[in-house]
Amino acid sequence: MKRSDKSETIWFVTGSQHLYGEETLRTVAADAKRVAEALDSSNLIPAEVTVGPVVTTPEAITNVCRDANSDRSCAGVIFWMHTFSPAKMWIQGLLTLEKPFLHFHTQSNRDIPWDSIDMDFMNLNQSAHGGREFGFITSRLQRRPTIVVGHWSDSRALREIGEWTRAVRGLTATRSLKVARFGDNMRQVAVTEGDKVAAQARFGYQVNGYGVGDLVEVVNEVSETEVDATVSEYEEMYEVAAELRADGPRRESLRAEARTEGGIRRFLENDGYSAFTTTFEDLHGLPQLPGLSVQRLMSQGYGFGAEGDWKTAALIRVMKAMGDGLGGTSFMEDYTYHMDPSGNLVLGAHMLEVCPSIALGKPTLEIHPLSIGGKADPVRLVFGAQPGPALNATIVDLGSRFRMIVNEVHAVSQPADLPRLPVARVLWEAHPTLPVAATCWILAGGAHHTGFSTGVTTNMLEMYAEMLGIEFLLIDATTTVRAFKKELRWNEAAYHVGSAGRF
Ligand code: MN
Repeated sequence: MKRSDKSETIWFVTGSQHLYGEETLRTVAADAKRVAEALDSSNLIPAEVTVGPVVTTPEAITNVCRDANSDRSCAGVIFWMHTFSPAKMWIQGLLTLEKPFLHFHTQSNRDIPWDSIDMDFMNLNQSAHGGREFGFITSRLQRRPTIVVGHWSDSRALREIGEWTRAVRGLTATRSLKVARFGDNMRQVAVTEGDKVAAQARFGYQVNGYGVGDLVEVVNEVSETEVDATVSEYEEMYEVAAELRADGPRRESLRAEARTEGGIRRFLENDGYSAFTTTFEDLHGLPQLPGLSVQRLMSQGYGFGAEGDWKTAALIRVMKAMGDGLGGTSFMEDYTYHMDPSGNLVLGAHMLEVCPSIALGKPTLEIHPLSIGGKADPVRLVFGAQPGPALNATIVDLGSRFRMIVNEVHAVSQPADLPRLPVARVLWEAHPTLPVAATCWILAGGAHHTGFSTGVTTNMLEMYAEMLGIEFLLIDATTTVRAFKKELRWNEAAYHVGSAGRF
């Protein structure tokens, strides 16, 4: 599931016109090449940026947009208006373009050359108004690109372009994603339900259900040799509890879990699935609720949702693709609170299934009873999480549309040991405060399941939501309940009037 750096190809297309003569256009082309190469070589942009043509006619613009659509290696397009490019020329092309695009509002020179500036210089370097002409037509056509403003040497601008390329990576991952569900939804739970037809139409991912017996068959095919290999990997990577070691009394439980891990992976690989769900209510034929195996598969890049939660499974896979190489991403659940007035905290965990990509230090591998499910004791990795900035994201199905909600949080060190809580967990402070964050989250219908990430940023998720045309709500340090309520009301009206969110 790992992806190499610079795995996407982004086209860099420059707009101009013929008014200025051939020499100017040659300079524009040379500048475009220089800017594209700077983006390509920037370590803030994890994508390959290739310089495309300078386009100066409606036909050339429409052609480059059609080429972008049909070239499977092209993940997205960056447009730059080096000079003025009359935007009626862009109408057909922009209406045709199906790939995500970014409007880079930059210019070749960083500073005004005070001593030498003349009208020739002004005519060559006029993106200040060329970009506005382009902005009018994207707005007029309701094609809303991501806009990045700043000089191409500025690390803030490069970082934003990098976030966009990661959002593009997320979109690419979404469109090719298949989610396998082992068992259905946890009985009576509402928020994990949803319209799979609408999801496929909006996001482009597929969600398919399997009886758990189909999985059990594959699990049982996993050989003793494979189990041996997986168990030795456990011994290298984790602190293994004495009872699970080679001479320990519960070694067989560890081997059973290694077999489950191998079986789930093989099942997913066989049919091209990169995300999956389980449910503790449907485990017939499995010895225990998959715990360690789910943690391991998540850490290898698979998306996961518990209790049949396919929307969160898909979101975790997408967040893992977006944030690859940048910290960790895990399935998460707001579990319980620390309501000390001097510092509210949320304890995030799940019964078992938290990804070790967010772990602080070496996880320990333990076995303990699970209070629900009625199966054998499950093996699990136990750890606390890395402190630092993070976020929680969710997507809910409101019936008429999908809504993404993001809450920026700060993960903190555990104030005390938790000797009787042998599960992986995170403690965080919610921004701006727990009362405001939880009020807004609840008003918005946010799920108790989320994707927790220390690598994915709010910008990436917002850009991704805009590419898909889904609603995006942010709860951050500046949020107030009063303003948030208005945003909910206004969005309700906007989605009622428009058709953006519907299928
Ligand atoms: Mn849950």
